[in-house]
Amino acid sequence: MIFLDNASTTNVYPEVADVIYNYMVEEYFNPSATYKPSLKIKKDIDAARKTIADCLGADKNEIVFTSCATESNNWAVNSIFRNLSGNLVISAGEHACIYETAKNLANKGLDLRMAKLTAKGKVDIEDLLSKIDKNTKMVSIIHVSNETGVINDIAGLSAAVKSVNPKIIFHSDGVQAFGKISCNVKKFNVDMYSISGHKFHSPKGIGALFIDKKIKLSPYLNGGGQESGLRSGTENVCGIVAMGKAAEIYKREVETSKSDIDFKYNLFIDLLSKINGCEIIGDTVDNSKMIIAAAFEGCKAEILQSMMADDGILIGRGSACSSRHAGNRVLSAMGIGQRTVDGTIRISLSPATTVSEITTACNKLSEKVNLLRGNNIG
Ligand code: PLP
Repeated sequence: MIFLDNASTTNVYPEVADVIYNYMVEEYFNPSATYKPSLKIKKDIDAARKTIADCLGADKNEIVFTSCATESNNWAVNSIFRNLSGNLVISAGEHACIYETAKNLANKGLDLRMAKLTAKGKVDIEDLLSKIDKNTKMVSIIHVSNETGVINDIAGLSAAVKSVNPKIIFHSDGVQAFGKISCNVKKFNVDMYSISGHKFHSPKGIGALFIDKKIKLSPYLNGGGQESGLRSGTENVCGIVAMGKAAEIYKREVETSKSDIDFKYNLFIDLLSKINGCEIIGDTVDNSKMIIAAAFEGCKAEILQSMMADDGILIGRGSACSSRHAGNRVLSAMGIGQRTVDGTIRISLSPATTVSEITTACNKLSEKVNLLRGNNIG
């Protein structure tokens, strides 16, 4: 099997699976208990918190563990608009868990404003700034697009936004950026930043939210006071420690293979571009180099994806969470026509993707595209 849908999820590193086993079967103690083995667990959680904080250039007390990035993103947005006052600005390129949360608040009466995307898939800064005023409480902008891999200049956007209104809370969804590109929240001057463990080889069901120490949120879950009283509930010890370990390995892996990752991304783009009627979607320079959105004229992505899967090659079709719905809101917001949207597949790499997997996938894609066109399916 060739797995080219790493933006949807990743396998757990074997060393991380060993860590999980240990905390499930051997060191399974409740971190809140006061005997010695539990105190050790508390320390291990804290060490993981420090690892995640270091990757973000944050202080460990600014990291709160959650169950996933969907939770982090929902919490970040909902916590600021408990009374629906002020306005919220997001971009048209946000993941469903920001977009739907914002829409839900708008249905209840919140003033929601949507910044446009450029044809290359970035947030249109002029349009973003035109949506901001003295009543804007929060701006939330995705760091790396889960659809195209395109990078938004979060530092630049945050500086521009805060120069208009310094009180604005700037949140960024960093799920597809964490570990792949620089995510220094202090340098970016962002106030909140969300990440998800299963995108970098830890298990599903663990995420985190960076909350700058100057932001005071009321508790999200009340109870025993875990996570500095912000999110009570017995900690997901396995997930937390696993995420810390995976972050360490992944960061090292990406750092040591950066030029290799760039090479493989460029090779993929080159080979895809040779397929007749292939269009690469979005900016390929300011890109994480881990996600490729490519459309094939006259082909339906759904059929292409299923034909590839029949041959053991798993590719995506936009965000996995939204791929069951018709259309693609983000690609449409880039001004891409419906036929092209319908023909767009998403390929997402990992540092472990090999050149041979890339050439095999491109040869197969070429074969399937020709077959589809020959059969006049499209
Ligand atoms: N944000 C982005 C950009 C994503 O790609 C995803 C998952 O695909 C999420 C948020 C949701 O993450 P989780 O699966 O941890 O809820």
